[in-house]
Amino acid sequence: MASRPTRRAICASLVGLTAKAERPVTGGFVFESQNSGHAIRDHRQFPAPKQSVKLPIVIVGGGMAGLSAAWWLEKRGFRDFVILEMEKEAGGNSRYGQNEVSAYPWGAHYVPVPNTESVLVRELFTELGLFVDGHWDERWLCHAPQERLFLHGRWQEGIEPDIGLTAEDHRQFRAFDARIKEFRATGQFRIPMAIGAPADSPLDKVNFRHWLDSNGFKSPYLHWLADYSTRDDYGASSSDTSAWAGIHYFAARDHDEKGPLTWPEGNGWILRKLLQKLGKYVRASQPVVRIGKVGAAWEVQTAETLYTCGAVIYAAPAFLLTYLDSTVPPVKTMNWSPWLVANLTLDRMPAEKGLEPAWDNVTYNSPSLGYVVSTHQNIQMRTDRTVFTHYWALSGASPAQARRDLLSTDWGVWKERILADLERAHRDIRQCVSRIDLFRNGHGMVRPIPGFLTNPERKSWQNGRERFYYASADVSGFSIFEEAQYRGVEAARRALAGVS
Ligand SMILES: Cc1cc2nc3c(=O)[nH]c(=O)nc-3n(C[C@H](O)[C@H](O)[C@H](O)COP(=O)(O)OP(=O)(O)OC[C@H]3O[C@@H](n4cnc5c(N)ncnc54)[C@H](O)[C@@H]3O)c2cc1C
Repeated sequence: MASRPTRRAICASLVGLTAKAERPVTGGFVFESQNSGHAIRDHRQFPAPKQSVKLPIVIVGGGMAGLSAAWWLEKRGFRDFVILEMEKEAGGNSRYGQNEVSAYPWGAHYVPVPNTESVLVRELFTELGLFVDGHWDERWLCHAPQERLFLHGRWQEGIEPDIGLTAEDHRQFRAFDARIKEFRATGQFRIPMAIGAPADSPLDKVNFRHWLDSNGFKSPYLHWLADYSTRDDYGASSSDTSAWAGIHYFAARDHDEKGPLTWPEGNGWILRKLLQKLGKYVRASQPVVRIGKVGAAWEVQTAETLYTCGAVIYAAPAFLLTYLDSTVPPVKTMNWSPWLVANLTLDRMPAEKGLEPAWDNVTYNSPSLGYVVSTHQNIQMRTDRTVFTHYWALSGASPAQARRDLLSTDWGVWKERILADLERAHRDIRQCVSRIDLFRNGHGMVRPIPGFLTNPERKSWQNGRERFYYASADVSGFSIFEEAQYRGVEAARRALAGVS
């Protein structure tokens, strides 16, 4: 049910104070592009475009998938294309912000050190100077301490629960690790997923929570870790996630990985580097409002321009296409997780007892995913001011219901929810925070629901249409940088072959 702001919260937000009269907190919502998206959904009439342009390839969407398609085309010496981006800036879920204290992410904030088989990621990271002579740039390998968990009233190192577990809990964690090792050895769980994923799997017939239960994994701590992990990577609870995808989270990475790679602005660092090379192709603030086939050509229309092209690389969300092209049926079976990302500016760090702050700070049994500290990679000795990026995957209700709550709840109420969440571990958080900005991302990422491996809608995105190639991470059924890059490059390969 959409929650209504309480009177206390409304009064508090009006004066910028909480009821306990802490320091004022300012802020607001950022990006707020729902109106452009909803105008497309509602088939609003758009003005006739003022100009027309012919090009061999048009890329729709300037997130990591669209930019990766462009990266690959340009590397092959192909330059006759544009990237049409709805927002004022390209980047999608990898956008970032900057204030007087630090840069900070608005979504994606790390990439695990890629396995050797993730060849495209390694190629890009070598080009960007992250991987030189077989060594990862130490500046951007996450510094210690990497992760901590607030459990039973105190912080412990790492996010795998350790404090207060029974011998049976510990045994189950060891048994789970052993099962994951076996799964890893099957070669099914790889990145990009396309190089390992089977066409079908019994693991994809059930949800991850059910799989844990039916395999004797009943420890509440293990259940929490599994649920935390699926919320973290897929924005969905373990009971809404395919067991295959849940296992992929644990089994797809090489065991001896170091890292992850992370930056103050998160994956915005990669975005910035890509835009230095590819920004010239981006047409920002150009939402595509219609796509259609006319004879052998495709037409892609924005408010200003009608593009006629030989091939389309579609790197915008898959659910949107039905509103752009009336011949495409609506997506019925796949769904997208809504997210709330908050950037909190702190004038000082909260007081700590025990462990020092880590890069990633998680509270056991919190509905949120905790926060990352944007200044963590700074090499200067001490920073008082910082920015916390607080992540909240709204996985408790159905995506549609959670989206309604996300959009109908005002800033003051969200501010209170976030501060109350942080207060579990930081009693003095209200004395530290001076600003909270919020990004409501209604369709943050596609969910790998049970049955996603064989899902006909996802299959249709994989197949594409005649010289129309889907590129976003949606094609993989789950959204991480590596999948967006792989799908972008695959679409570019096919598009180039299609127009040559
Ligand atoms: C909160 C959050 C945290 C995340 N954290 C991580 C992380 O730490 N590490 C990681 O690897 N991944 C993370 N991800 C996953 C992230 O989605 C991927 O890493 C990747 O950025 C997805 O890229 P994409 O291009 O597939 O999609 P998107 O980033 O969604 O890009 C789609 C683009 O299409 C544009 N668009 C939409 N409609 C139109 C239109 N009509 N016309 C033109 N353009 C349009 C959008 O504006 C957007 O720029 C996170 C995602 C979220 C939501």
